[in-house]
Amino acid sequence: MPIERPRGTNDYGPEEMARRRAVEGILKDVAHRFGFREIATPTIEHLDLFTKKSGPGIIEELYAFKDKSDRDLALRPEFTASIVRFYVAELRNLPKPIKVYSVGNVFRYEEPQKGRYREFTQFNAEIIGAPSLQGDAEVIALAIECLHAVGVKDVRVRVGHIGMLRAFLKLSPEDQGKVLHWLDKRNFPALAQELTRLGLERLESALRQYVELKGGPEVLDKGAKLLQGGGAEGFDYLKALAARLRSYGIEHVTFDLGVVRGLDYYTGMVFEVDSPNLGAEKQVMGGGAYTLAELLGGDPVPQTGFAFGLDRVVLAAEAEGVKLPVPRLDCYVIPIGAPMQAKALEVLVSLRRAGVSADIDLLGRGPSKNLDYANAIRARFAVLAGETELKKGLVAVKDLDSGAQEEMKLDDLIARAKAPQRPKA
Ligand code: ATP
Ligand code: MG
Repeated sequence: MPIERPRGTNDYGPEEMARRRAVEGILKDVAHRFGFREIATPTIEHLDLFTKKSGPGIIEELYAFKDKSDRDLALRPEFTASIVRFYVAELRNLPKPIKVYSVGNVFRYEEPQKGRYREFTQFNAEIIGAPSLQGDAEVIALAIECLHAVGVKDVRVRVGHIGMLRAFLKLSPEDQGKVLHWLDKRNFPALAQELTRLGLERLESALRQYVELKGGPEVLDKGAKLLQGGGAEGFDYLKALAARLRSYGIEHVTFDLGVVRGLDYYTGMVFEVDSPNLGAEKQVMGGGAYTLAELLGGDPVPQTGFAFGLDRVVLAAEAEGVKLPVPRLDCYVIPIGAPMQAKALEVLVSLRRAGVSADIDLLGRGPSKNLDYANAIRARFAVLAGETELKKGLVAVKDLDSGAQEEMKLDDLIARAKAPQRPKA
């Protein structure tokens, strides 16, 4: 019996991988343009790192195991905890604010479906040590610019603030975590049960109405009323944030008091971005503000971060028919007749040395089979190395997009292959 890949994991073929790398490359470029620098942390961490800081949501989803020396380890379910650990141990010595990003695979044991896997890729960005308003606005602007640069147009940015709910609930962090978790999942029966256990049934109706508030600044006033004047600072903060975002040229954010976020470490602004074209798993990104370092023995430094689900950004781009800049092989060299093998290899080597991507027939196929292959791998040019042309110091070049064929010097082919390509319509 063939061995199947584990449930919830993916294989990616060359075309799909090229699209994923294209998206990843765009996100990295934008992050660099915003002054973020890349860091990397291990895929495995001590289990404690995640159990210390995350709510029930993530702990249930952890891939945890013992290693051969009986250490409790886990595959990372996200980047933030690792980055905070790294910050407390070393990064805090860097000049502030610290702006970093990471890309890599994360693991969560959950029910797989389209856009929801057990191993998936996140693009994570964090600002550590900037005042909240400035850091939050910069991070939101980065997230929006990332999607814009990928070419995903239909995006909904929803911004909320978890501070108001926390102030209103006045519970121990653990109880707060539970209430917020059920609110996040909109699991109202479980919420009611939890509130009853805490003797807070009277809050149920207000909480349920509160998390449905979504829209312009008017929802902030409605929210304030529901919380009976509690959490006023948070509402004012969101107004100031919206004003700062307008200076970035960002007009279209929706206030959404229902953005609660699954992880219970958020303390301030929280935000999510949806691509409505994706159907059920439409959330391409989630993030917010927190002061996690304290929890891991560091200073109480403000931090704002977000993570894109890279897989979902790729799906969103595909759903909108975005043409991603996927690299193609420039030249496929075809020796015309067996005696031309050595000459054709010389042509190949010259192309490669000149920085042009080039490949050559390895199977000894005839010219027409080779042309089929060149078309099938979507090469740009077929380079026919025939005796007559080579004697004149030329090669015959077939443009596989237009079908046009002409003889030219190798240098001219190199110049043409290296000229910037216009994206195909
Ligand atoms: P959800 O509510 O969809 O489970 P989440 O709140 O758990 O999302 P985060 O922890 O904020 O998600 O992760 C950031 C992003 O990673 C999400 O917005 C989503 O795009 C992506 N993501 C989360 N879980 C998965 C998964 N199982 N497979 C693929 N992408 C995922
Ligand atoms: Mg989740």
